[in-house]
Amino acid sequence: MPDGVVVAVNPDLAPDLVVVGAGFFGLTIAERCAAELDLKVLVLERREHLGGNAWSEADPDTGIEVHKYGAHLFHTSNAKVWEYVNRFTDFTGYQHRVYSQHGGEVYPLPINLGTINQFFRSAHSPAQARELIAEQASELGGKEPENFVEKGVSLIGRPLYEAFIAHYTAKQWQTDPEKLSADIITRLPVRYTYDNRYFNDTYEGLPVDGYAAWLERMADHPNIEVRTGVDFREHREEYVGRVPVVYTGPVDEYFDHDEGRLSWRTVDFEREVVDTPDFQGCPVMNYPDADAPYTRIIEFRHFHPERDYDSEQTVIFKEFSRFAEDTDEPYYPVNTPEDRAMLMRYRDRAKAEDNVLFGGRLGTYKYLDMHMAIGSALSMFENKLRPHFADGEALTSGGVDA
Ligand code: FAD
Ligand code: UDP
Repeated sequence: MPDGVVVAVNPDLAPDLVVVGAGFFGLTIAERCAAELDLKVLVLERREHLGGNAWSEADPDTGIEVHKYGAHLFHTSNAKVWEYVNRFTDFTGYQHRVYSQHGGEVYPLPINLGTINQFFRSAHSPAQARELIAEQASELGGKEPENFVEKGVSLIGRPLYEAFIAHYTAKQWQTDPEKLSADIITRLPVRYTYDNRYFNDTYEGLPVDGYAAWLERMADHPNIEVRTGVDFREHREEYVGRVPVVYTGPVDEYFDHDEGRLSWRTVDFEREVVDTPDFQGCPVMNYPDADAPYTRIIEFRHFHPERDYDSEQTVIFKEFSRFAEDTDEPYYPVNTPEDRAMLMRYRDRAKAEDNVLFGGRLGTYKYLDMHMAIGSALSMFENKLRPHFADGEALTSGGVDA
């Protein structure tokens, strides 16, 4: 889709609902309300394309599909979400696997029996490996882990934590890991088998004809109009108080940062076209040592082994993580204790905003994967929007935690 183009044009549309943000959350709301309730939905998106962070496009030099805002792997165990997303796209059988280059050697991730035996130069059975890690984790003296470091050490012991997690996390979060939430590390499974699938979910795959095609299909309804290149902040008086709004932008920005600025991380992607058909032999190589300035290298060609890309070159993105400034894209909520306290104040403010619902990764300040954003939008539709539009119930926010 060319930049700035309006999808499913309906210029006379007087909206029943305004959705701010055309990411997965916003598009799921728009699609459900248009298709199920026959509402006219106006979606405002400040970027020049729809799709939010999941947007993908063909690399201009190689034709390889690249995920513009970082690699996006779809996985879920939620059967409802899986059924819903399959209405808009078929999925390949792709299963995500990641490798990690430490001390000049390549190890499989997530930490599994293969990683443990390679690291300790051993041939431990699952039971022996469990015993070893339990012994190393005993430095915590049975204490319930309270932060990222303690959780990491409790799961994999100090030597593996130092090798694969400590510097990577320092590069990625630039935050004292004792201030990071333990949840971040529990995203990664630890396995006492040689299974090195990155995700544990029931369903996994990549959209057969790409994310852009999937996202555009969600918006392809005569009752939906997506206006790109439009910032809600410049138009809020036209809509707030006049028509129900689902807002998926940053919650602190909605309130003009009155309660302070929530901290976000952003990522800079350094794109390189390399003169070889295969740069690293896998889609993702992590660099957990302090001497590499980037956290990982993505080679997009490997996400679609079933496609016959005919380029003799390959395209890679090196990822550099840093704190987001005002003008940067906010990607990952840092979620320090100060942020959490601030978020409580924003939640109270959001509760008081009648006729505005807050959702999505930015609107809830939560580390939501795509399937979680879609699942949460489906719940908002069933629990808030359908009762409002179909049964006349009041549209009270209930806070940002929809
Ligand atoms: P977004 O996609 O961020 O969409 C919000 C939209 O709102 C944006 O397009 C933004 O421009 C727009 N907006 C904000 N403010 C305004 C305003 N004032 N006016 C108009 N528009 C506005 N998930 C996975 O499941 N698997 C992965 O592998 C994965 N990898 C990721 C890698 C990175 C680097 C990042 C950042 C995220 C990743 N995710 C992944 C998460 C995934 O991107 C999110 O779950 C998904 O984007 C959430 O959708 P959303 O609609 O909530 O937010
Ligand atoms: N992580 C790490 N080393 C790795 C991979 C992950 O230390 O090689 C940590 C890091 O803190 C990261 C978290 O585990 O933020 C979750 O990993 P995931 O791959 O889910 O992170 P994402 O790609 O979503 O940032």
